Amino acid sequence: MPLERRDAATLVARTSSVEATQGLAAALASLALPGDLVVLAGDLGAGKTAFVQGFGRGLGVGEPITSPTFTLVQEYVGRLPVHHVDVYRLDQLSEVVDLGLAELLDDEGVVLIEWGDAILPMLPADLLEVRLTFGAADDDRTIVLRSSGRSWLRRMASLVEAVAPWAGAPDGVAPC
Ligand code: ADP
Ligand code: MG
Repeated sequence: MPLERRDAATLVARTSSVEATQGLAAALASLALPGDLVVLAGDLGAGKTAFVQGFGRGLGVGEPITSPTFTLVQEYVGRLPVHHVDVYRLDQLSEVVDLGLAELLDDEGVVLIEWGDAILPMLPADLLEVRLTFGAADDDRTIVLRSSGRSWLRRMASLVEAVAPWAGAPDGVAPC
C-alpha cells in the first residue's frame, strides 16, 4: 500500500491492536538520537502510554513502563536514557517549568511528553508530534506523525521506511 503523506512533514499510520502501536513505536525508536523530543497527543485511552512502552522497548528498556500519572516524570535506562513525562495533571504552566524540562532535554536522552501538545509554545521547535485518534473499531487507531524542525525533517526518509508496515489509509477510505 502506498504510504500516505499529507505534506512533506506528515505521515499517517494505522494500527488495530496495542501490540501494533507498540511495534510502530519500537520501529521509530531505532531512529532516536540524543536530545530527541517526542510529543504525544490524543484523548485518554488513545494509546499515548502504549506508544511510550513500545518506544522504550525499542530503546532496550528492560523494566515495565507505566503511566507517570503520580510522578509526572519517570526515567528509564536504555540505549539512550528515556524520560517519560505526562503533563495531563498540570494545573499551571509554571509547573512545567518546575519539571525541569530544559534539563531533561539537555540530558542526551529522549524525552517523551504525554499531552505535550498542550505546552507546545514552551517546547523547542525540533520535535516529533505523535497524534493518536480512535478509529471505527475498538482497537483501531490512526497515528499521525508530524516532524517539526530540522532534526526530525532530516530523518523523514528513515521515518517513512520505519512506519511503512503500518502506513496507509484503509482501502477506499480517503484521509480527512
Ligand atoms: P493514553 O496514555 O493515551 O491515555 P493508554 O496507552 O494508557 O492511553 O491506553 C490505551 C488503551 O487502549 C490500552 O488499554 C490499550 O490496550 C488499548 N488499545 C487498543 N487498541 C489499541 C491500539 N491500536 N493502540 C494503542 N492502544 C490500544
Ligand atoms: Mg497515558
